[in-house]
Amino acid sequence: MIKSNSKDTASKIKQINKTIKLLQKEYGEIDWEARRDPISELVYTILSQHTSDINSIRAFNSLIKKFKSFELLKDAPVKSVESAIYRGGLAKIKASRIKEVLQIIYENIGSFDLSFLSEMDIDEAKSWLKSLPGIGPKTAAIVLCFSFGMPVMPVDTHIFRLSKRLGFINNKINADDAHEILEEMIKPDKVFSFHMNLIRHGREVCQARGPKCASCVLSTICPSKE
Ligand code: SF4
Repeated sequence: MIKSNSKDTASKIKQINKTIKLLQKEYGEIDWEARRDPISELVYTILSQHTSDINSIRAFNSLIKKFKSFELLKDAPVKSVESAIYRGGLAKIKASRIKEVLQIIYENIGSFDLSFLSEMDIDEAKSWLKSLPGIGPKTAAIVLCFSFGMPVMPVDTHIFRLSKRLGFINNKINADDAHEILEEMIKPDKVFSFHMNLIRHGREVCQARGPKCASCVLSTICPSKE
């Protein structure tokens, strides 16, 4: 665990707050609304690993069309699941993972209704999700953020890259650890909108290669400006 002193943390919080304001001015404040029910979000997020949004949506829609319910999907032959999601890539691994996760959830709670997570505190809900095979901090955060509106910060490739470039985290921090470090520094009521705006900024302006620093609204506060 990499420790930082309180002065360092205070300056990072200041930097985050300035970033929140500038991005909000540029893109507006984004209100939370539920994207999918929790079990669908969990399955969708497994499908989305290492592939584009378009491929993930195609694979998810194909899965739902073929199996109609998570009960049927849980008991389906793995080859049949694989063929439904082949467009999403890594179909073999993802098919087994989805079936395994669904079977464990069903054995544990007797249904696929994950609404009980909303009664838990954030750490407890995260731990429950992370106890499932192959579910790490990012997937747990996506489910809690997008299905329940909890103030958690999924750290995808854009959030991770921008957090380093803007100095919220140092280069030694890995993406898994970045979740909690960032969450502790962001006001809960700002997390969702900041998450959405930072991703948008990463996609449109601060791309991995060739960031558009000259036209970036964060250029006045960015230590990585080129
Ligand atoms: S100034 Fe450049 S490096 Fe910094 S956030 Fe903007 S685009 Fe990214």
